[in-house]
Amino acid sequence: MSASADHPPTAPDALEPVAGATPAAPSPTLAELQELDARWVLPTYARLPIAPVSGSGAWLRDADGRAILDALCGIAVTSLGHQHPAITAAVQEQAGRLLHGSNLTHLEGPLRLARRLAEGSLGGAVFFTNSGAEANEAAIKLARRHRRGGEIVSVHGAFHGRTYGALSATPQESKQEPFAPLVPGFRAVPPTAGALREAVTASTAAVLLEAIQGESGVHVLSDEVLRAAREACDAAGALLILDEVQTGVGRTGTLWRHQATGVVPDAMTSAKALGGGMPIGALIVGEHLRGTLQPGDHGSTFAGGPLVAAAAHAVLDVVEAPGFLERVTALGERLRTALAALDGIGEVRGAGLMIGADLEPDAAERVGGAPALVRRLALEHGLLVNATGPTTLRLLPPLTITDDELALVVDRLAAGLARGPRAA
Ligand SMILES: *Cc1c(COP(=O)(O)O)cnc(C)c1O
Repeated sequence: MSASADHPPTAPDALEPVAGATPAAPSPTLAELQELDARWVLPTYARLPIAPVSGSGAWLRDADGRAILDALCGIAVTSLGHQHPAITAAVQEQAGRLLHGSNLTHLEGPLRLARRLAEGSLGGAVFFTNSGAEANEAAIKLARRHRRGGEIVSVHGAFHGRTYGALSATPQESKQEPFAPLVPGFRAVPPTAGALREAVTASTAAVLLEAIQGESGVHVLSDEVLRAAREACDAAGALLILDEVQTGVGRTGTLWRHQATGVVPDAMTSAKALGGGMPIGALIVGEHLRGTLQPGDHGSTFAGGPLVAAAAHAVLDVVEAPGFLERVTALGERLRTALAALDGIGEVRGAGLMIGADLEPDAAERVGGAPALVRRLALEHGLLVNATGPTTLRLLPPLTITDDELALVVDRLAAGLARGPRAA
């Protein structure tokens, strides 16, 4: 069975309300929503002028019925598309039984999910969180428990989240500088084998890396760099921790990115796609680290509840089905080839359906930069993608996207690239 065969109809005119969903109330206009946003929400986000009210598969639909092809997935979250029937059913069923049971009790869904995640990766054990940043916080605490007072090494271009520990491992001036002082004991080096070998010493607690850097523009760390990090950590007795928050759960064509590299970390973090849209993250450790965090060392009231665990089981059922990940790999190769052939696109990077594409300088100038292009693609061409910088696009389409929809992503991007910016 092809990965898309059990997927809901995805043509824009075939959108139907999900069975059992409450009919939407009359929707406010975009201008009304923008007013609410400007008046009542702290202005940390630059939002696109679109207002989705429903979704199905690869499509979002706004209140006017306009369909937008979603090649971003809420930044790698709704990786099985919107309202995947298996996720919707699992969440509805669990919501009818028990929403929250507390980590002070035994809950079958989350406990089985822990086994499933560990068995499918590092073999040890799991700590659940509500987000990627929190999963990295847990990983940082694990590292400091492993080597008391030890340094955490990360690399330039990394993104590990916005909370203080994760931010301290995110060496980007614009994100860190306004919030100094950061957590002490963090160090950033270039993402090269030599720099990592030099940085990792007997006072290093852990090296924290994304095998593919997502937020900085989809930069793949080479197997050589990952191997050097692994060897340096082994020699120094430090932990290698991979942040698989964006790369994991099938996004890059294997369940976890590290499985395509031959490098096995001591611990890894997951979130984003794990719940298919529900907020769940996890720290997964190897067997040798199952005793590192002690009773009382860490906790979270909400984390690993039965509702989010039900969603995660449904996600894994789909991603682990025979043939699913092979199709992601094939689609990714096709999409990267098609993007690289587009007029105005320079380097194309990534693995599976995690893809970065640089605009060529003349194209960047013509369209007014990647952020302006993204805005215009959403407004005028019905395509949702993301800009990670002034000249870089990021595409994270649903892993369940159909062949026709994938071709449409390329067509719409080409149409957007072909035109100059709108008159102001
Ligand atoms: C998104 C992301 C995070 C942060 O996840 P949140 O759920 O936003 O806290 C951390 N690491 C990587 C690699 C990410 O892509």
